[in-house]
Amino acid sequence: MWGDASMPRSRARFFPGSMCNLSIGTVKRVAVCAILSAMPLRSTVVPGAPKAPRSASTAETAQVKSALKWIDENTDWVTDVQVRLTEIPAPSLQEEKRAVEVAALLSDQGLSVHQDRLGNVIGELRGANDQEVVLLAAHLDTVFPIGTNSKAKRDGGRILAPGISDNGTGLAALVGIARAMHVAKVKPQETILFAANVGEEGEGNLRGMRALVEAYRARLKAVIVLDGSGIDHVTTRALASRRLEVVVTGPGGHSWSDFGMPNPINAVVRGAVRFINTKVPSSPRTTFNLGQIEGGTSVNSIPHEARLKVDLRSENEEEIARMENALRECMAAGVRDEMDHARDRSRGSLDWKLNLIGSRPGGELAKDSALLTALAAADEAVGNQSRVERSSTDANIPLSMGIDAIAIGAGGNGGGAHSLQEWYEPKGREVGLKRILITLLGVSGVVPEKTR
Ligand SMILES: [Zn+2]
Repeated sequence: MWGDASMPRSRARFFPGSMCNLSIGTVKRVAVCAILSAMPLRSTVVPGAPKAPRSASTAETAQVKSALKWIDENTDWVTDVQVRLTEIPAPSLQEEKRAVEVAALLSDQGLSVHQDRLGNVIGELRGANDQEVVLLAAHLDTVFPIGTNSKAKRDGGRILAPGISDNGTGLAALVGIARAMHVAKVKPQETILFAANVGEEGEGNLRGMRALVEAYRARLKAVIVLDGSGIDHVTTRALASRRLEVVVTGPGGHSWSDFGMPNPINAVVRGAVRFINTKVPSSPRTTFNLGQIEGGTSVNSIPHEARLKVDLRSENEEEIARMENALRECMAAGVRDEMDHARDRSRGSLDWKLNLIGSRPGGELAKDSALLTALAAADEAVGNQSRVERSSTDANIPLSMGIDAIAIGAGGNGGGAHSLQEWYEPKGREVGLKRILITLLGVSGVVPEKTR
C-alpha cells in the first residue's frame, strides 16, 4: 500500500540479511539491521539470502530485543498511563496540569526533563553523538473546554473518554517508548528528545511544535509525531491551511430612525455572496469554509461591527494565496457596494480589515528519505502496511522547513475524535508501539553495548 510509484517495495530490500550485507557504511544502516534482526521474522525467509554479520548486530540485538519484549509484556501499563493522562483536562493554552504529570512520567524513565516557556515538556536521552537530535513528539492539548467530563469509562474492550485517542494514545506511547528503552538500557547513537507539546489543536496554531523546531533547528535530523491510534497510514505530506477573519466596522444606529446608513453586516453578506461563487480546482484539491459569522447588538440596531471567519485549505499553497486574494477582493467589493447603496453617508463610512488568525504551512517528505526508509523497515518487521496520506498535523512545521518528518498513529483502534463519544480499544497496541520504536531507532541508530 506504499504506492508503487512512491516506494520500490521489494521484500528483499528490507530483509535483514540482504540489507545488512548491502552496505555497512553507516551507523544508521547497522542500527536498522540490528533492530530487524531482533524481530521475529515472519514469512520473509528468502532462500539463499545472506545472513546478517553477527559481530555488527548481536550486541545491539540484545537490548532492542529486550525493549520489544517489554512492550509485549506491558501494554496494560501503557493503557493505564493513557487513562491517567486523558482524565487530566488539557484544552489548548491550558495544558499545564497534564504537562506536569507527563514531565514526572518521563523523568521516571531516566530522562533529563525540562519545560520551555510555552509549556512544552522535553525529556532528553543523550546519544553517543549529540550533534544531531531526533524528536519524538505527541501533543498534550485537546479540543475540549474545562468542565468537560473526562472520566474514562470501560465498555467491553473499549475505553470511552473525550481525548482518549486524540491524543491520549500518542502521549501514552511517548511515555511507553521511553520506558521500554530505559528498562532495556537502549542507548541511541543520536540524541532523542521525547516531547509532549502544547498548542496543536484549533487556534493553538501549532505553536508548541513551532517553538520546538525553532529551538533545535540546527541539530534536528528528523521529527516523528505521534497523533491518534491508526497505524494503516503515515502522514508524509502536510496539508496547508490559512484562517482569516474579516472585520467590518461602521457608525451603527437605530433600525428605523437611521435607516439608510451603511451596515457592516450587509457589507459582509454582500462580500460573502461574491466570495462563495469563487471557483476552486478539484486538483489540487482546494477548499474554503465560512465557519463563523458574528456581529451586531440587537435586531433593531444597525450594527457597528460584523466579523466573518474563513478557513482555506489546499494541496498547493499557491491556491491558498489565490483564495486569500479572492476573499480580499470580494470583501472590498462588498463594502463598496454597501457604501454605494447607502442613502445616508453623512455620519461616517465603513472600515474593514482582514486578519490572519492561523496558518499551517505545507510541505512534503522526500520519498527516498532515511525516515521513510526506517518506517518502511518497521512496517515490514511488524507485518504492517501503511498508505501515504496528506493531513494537517504538527509535522506541517518541520516539513515546511525541509526537515524530515512524519505523523503516525500509536497503535490500537480509536474513533470519534473531537467528540464526546470518543473511544479507544487497546487490542493490538503493541504492534503500533513496536513500529514506533523500530522507526525511531532506525533513524537515531543504536550504540552496541560492548562499545559503550
Ligand atoms: Zn491530535
